[in-house]
Amino acid sequence: MKNKITIIGSGFSSLAASCYLAADGFDVSIYEKNNSVGGRASVFSKDGFKFDMGPTWYWMPDVFEHFFNDFNTRSSDFYQLDKLNPAYKVIFTKHDSIIISDTIDKIYSIFEKFEPGSSKHLHAFLESAKYNYEVAIKDLVYRPGNSIVELITPTTIRRVDQFFQTISKQVRNKIKHPYLISILEFPVLFLGAKPSNTPSFYNFMNYADFGLGTWHPKGGMYEVINAMVSLATSLGVKIYTNQNVSKIIVENKKASGIIVNGDLIEADIVLSGADYHHTETLLERPYKQYSESYWNSKTFAPSSLLFYVAFDKKLHNVNHHTLFFDADFNEHAATIYDNPSWPKKPLFYASFPSITDASFAPKGKEAGTFLIPLAPGIEDTTSIRERYFEQIIGRFEALTGQEVKDSILFKRSYCINDFINDYNSYKGNAYGLANILTQTAFLRPKIKSKKVDNLYFTGQLTVPGPGVPPSLISGKIVSLEINKKFKILKNHETIV
Ligand SMILES: Cc1cc2nc3c(=O)[nH]c(=O)nc-3n(C[C@H](O)[C@H](O)[C@H](O)COP(=O)(O)OP(=O)(O)OC[C@H]3O[C@@H](n4cnc5c(N)ncnc54)[C@H](O)[C@@H]3O)c2cc1C
Repeated sequence: MKNKITIIGSGFSSLAASCYLAADGFDVSIYEKNNSVGGRASVFSKDGFKFDMGPTWYWMPDVFEHFFNDFNTRSSDFYQLDKLNPAYKVIFTKHDSIIISDTIDKIYSIFEKFEPGSSKHLHAFLESAKYNYEVAIKDLVYRPGNSIVELITPTTIRRVDQFFQTISKQVRNKIKHPYLISILEFPVLFLGAKPSNTPSFYNFMNYADFGLGTWHPKGGMYEVINAMVSLATSLGVKIYTNQNVSKIIVENKKASGIIVNGDLIEADIVLSGADYHHTETLLERPYKQYSESYWNSKTFAPSSLLFYVAFDKKLHNVNHHTLFFDADFNEHAATIYDNPSWPKKPLFYASFPSITDASFAPKGKEAGTFLIPLAPGIEDTTSIRERYFEQIIGRFEALTGQEVKDSILFKRSYCINDFINDYNSYKGNAYGLANILTQTAFLRPKIKSKKVDNLYFTGQLTVPGPGVPPSLISGKIVSLEINKKFKILKNHETIV
């Protein structure tokens, strides 16, 4: 008989883990509370329009390839991947914007145009970023975060200063133009923290941005979920939706099953890809590893206010990915990290995938997603959401020089309360626990419970961190840890 693994949740990390574990010969079942799989990567469709409700940026294509290659497949076996050109646009004022192209040489020219001599500095910066990418993504991020020793390698010892200098300082040391600084500081926002609080070692995100480029899976991010589901089921994983897990059963300090919609499902291993804080609420008190004050003291990645908007016409002066940096970033960031509150004038991001992918909107129309990063846990009401919609759509019209309000066919908002209801997200965070120095690697919540045997965790609150590529990596890391425990006997007939 195969050993049985039950997985809570069906986000990227759970799906990735399920594939590895099924390929290793375990009997794997996924229990998802919602009526569709994919976790935060869900889709909203209406009247011929489609919106990726969660992730929209496909960065680090090599990490996705690594995942598919582990099963002797390629992403192209499942979906078509296009490199976006331009990658994205950043709008600073009605008259000032920067378009980031798909090749590094074109990006150097843009930098020279705004700040003569800056391309030389950018070149040196990207050399270091590329080196860090090789060290981090090919090696360090695949380590389980069990101990500091994992991070001590000849390379990290040589680069130890980069863990104590911030990305902000490194960028501002050489580059002086405020627009170029914003563009170089933007990628680390994906890690969920301020550039002034993120170690410069994380400049590998700049290599991901300029060096590897921005990609788009035709049909949208949900195609990646479809691919993983197809791979998982072909490997024998059973996936059940509308299955709310309300308890993890512990016997003799060992996880022995879960309660799903009131029924007991027995298991040899319980693995949770649901938010870590929520998973611990499924345990009786003595089995929780982290207190409420522990979670409260942590720096969470932002939550978001999102609007999914259907426009009755094509829009101008925007790209597939467009960032609106016409506001003071530091003021906005202070409301997220220092003094949790609604920002007066937030920066925002908008995505119009129907510009490059006809599957997102009917002909002659545009599908737009607008995102404002916010502090998790602040008040969320319909009237607040509406006020912010009015603000950003007004700025959007002014900055892009077009009227769009009268062309809105419908819109849907999504914010903190939805993240809590839909995903059991701590304080409604959108993408997990930030990757600041004190919350990196072995300092993150552990992948294996310290109190309950046979209980494991995966996803954006444990190692390596927030984002789709890290979630794929997290699924691999946890499967390796589980395999270590079982010492992989060919048919898993014996539990060690
Ligand atoms: C708006 C937004 C934009 C983003 N943009 C990007 C981007 O552009 N690029 C990028 O790389 N990343 C982006 N991210 C981050 C990325 O989406 C996440 O890091 C990743 O999807 C997290 O996957 P996960 O497996 O950790 O968790 P999740 O996707 O949260 O999956 C957890 C699952 O567990 C389920 N669950 C919870 N409780 C229970 C229970 N009791 N019983 C059963 N099931 C349960 C939930 O319903 C959910 O399906 C974005 C996230 C958001 C929200």
